[in-house]
Amino acid sequence: MNAMFEQGVIRPPSEASSLLVRVTRNCPWNRCHICPAYKGKKFSKRSVIEVKNDINMMAETYAAHLTRFTSAFLQDADTLILPTEELVEIIAHIKKVFPNIERVTTYARAKSMKRKNLDDYQRLKEAGLTRIHTGMESGSLKVLKLIQKGIKPEDILTGGLRVVESGISLSEYIMPGLGGRALSQEHAFETAKILNQIRPDFIRVRTLAIHPMSPLQRMVDEGVFVPLNDEEVVAEIRVLLEHLDQMPTHFRCGDFSLNLLMQVDGRLDTHKQAMLDEIDKYLAMSKEQKQAYSLIQRTYPGMKDMAVVQNDGLMEEARREISRLEEQEEDGFNKYIRSLMTLQLPQLQTDCWDG
Ligand code: SF4
Repeated sequence: MNAMFEQGVIRPPSEASSLLVRVTRNCPWNRCHICPAYKGKKFSKRSVIEVKNDINMMAETYAAHLTRFTSAFLQDADTLILPTEELVEIIAHIKKVFPNIERVTTYARAKSMKRKNLDDYQRLKEAGLTRIHTGMESGSLKVLKLIQKGIKPEDILTGGLRVVESGISLSEYIMPGLGGRALSQEHAFETAKILNQIRPDFIRVRTLAIHPMSPLQRMVDEGVFVPLNDEEVVAEIRVLLEHLDQMPTHFRCGDFSLNLLMQVDGRLDTHKQAMLDEIDKYLAMSKEQKQAYSLIQRTYPGMKDMAVVQNDGLMEEARREISRLEEQEEDGFNKYIRSLMTLQLPQLQTDCWDG
């Protein structure tokens, strides 16, 4: 927490230079097995007066750069849980105090999105809300239940359709790997089915990484959840992509380094085949090349070039490391890759998952 005004712990990568305005604290649901961000922290709403005071404090703090801000992000996890009139007042105040702000965006849960009607969204749009980011994760009821997401496909669909109808931009976040081996196909099919109906502006891909203290890790240890390896996740993304319509939607892997193939990134109406071709290039590699690519990408997140597997020196080094990991324990290579992936997750704010 800042000494003068509050700020939450996370925001989407695309909001790196936005003014961060905290209108609620933490997450009202907070039970998802995949999410360490707010575990152990209590949800609370903030009053309009309190938030306006924060905005005034920000204006004092950033006085020399006031006009630099062109966008604001409303925190934390589920801003749309607030009454529409309160949000309208807050957005109006942001725009009054920071005159150059043109873009105001926020996170929202599908349940809260569904509770607002078209009139609410139109009022929010008129006030200046330009984009809603929402974590649907999957279109499969079985997968949503498995991770205790607390939403149903119909919530995702109803809320999403309403946002799109209002003209507010919509970013849907999905999580490959979330069904484990048992539900991989269903996860891909059902997710594509719902996204084809919503037709959001963005589909943002967030490959699953399992926090070591999460209930999902316990399910892995007990053999109830069998996680996919990198190759299986890419194959699942291929099924999803193949079943997505060629619509004017950005399919984005490039803004999240836990996605193995960050270069798979483009519009579905113009780049779908090119993205499938890139996936097929990876799937056509030998098992050894795929493992080497995973090792290099997971060690240096953000690396996008599949040509690294043509480098003899790097391949030799990778080969030695892969053998060492495989000899160490059963499934040693995949376990090591999963442990590297957890390093990129948000840290717990408290000592344990349940606070
Ligand atoms: S994933 Fe979203 S809804 Fe689930 S606990 Fe995290 S912030 Fe809350």
